[in-house]
Amino acid sequence: MDIQLTEEQREILKGRICPYCHVPTEYKNSVEVYGVDYGMIYYCPKCRAYVGVHKGTDRAKGRLANAELRRCKIEAHRYFDELYKRGIMKRTEAYKWLSEQLGLPPEYTHIGMFNPETCAKVVDVSKKYLETMRFALRRQDKIKAAFEPNGDETLTRIKESLTRYFAADRSEFPEGLRDIEDDFNQLPGEPYPTIAVNDVGNDSRMIEFYVIGKQYDVYRLAFKGFTKC
Ligand SMILES: [Zn+2]
Repeated sequence: MDIQLTEEQREILKGRICPYCHVPTEYKNSVEVYGVDYGMIYYCPKCRAYVGVHKGTDRAKGRLANAELRRCKIEAHRYFDELYKRGIMKRTEAYKWLSEQLGLPPEYTHIGMFNPETCAKVVDVSKKYLETMRFALRRQDKIKAAFEPNGDETLTRIKESLTRYFAADRSEFPEGLRDIEDDFNQLPGEPYPTIAVNDVGNDSRMIEFYVIGKQYDVYRLAFKGFTKC
């Protein structure tokens, strides 16, 4: 993916030109404009749009934003940031995922650079992802290491099995089985409840996990093992 930007577009993303008025911006402390010190900002004297800078630098966090765009950015962060706050992905992985979702090169995948339409797309794709992602699997590198030389393959199989399990529409299940919690087994001597899910790699096997907690809608799971046939 490659994007050719005009000189003006580059200056806009650096906060040097106002994207609304196309005039050069002013670099000043917000206290001069708002009477409150949020640090340095790039500010448009014409329409009063502004953007802050990365801490300790004079680098703009993106393009100048008016009130509407600032709301859109907050909304985009509210959903997107959950992807790494919930531990579903690391922060860098989440941005890589977002660049793929939006079809943008990674260097232009920053919410501070986006217009309201792109922010709305961020909300949309993040929400969809969060709805399907109901689990966070702990210590994936350890699982991988335990199954070398087939570590990658086995980890993928485990995650696919979980994805299928959690994506199932349970609304048609018999009463008493419609909630994930209905599947929990509390075995004597075990520290956490366990669940067993079908193994996508072998119809006659299941894979067991400890359910070590739940945060938001996401179950935190630890791999226990494959059941015997
Ligand atoms: Zn302006």
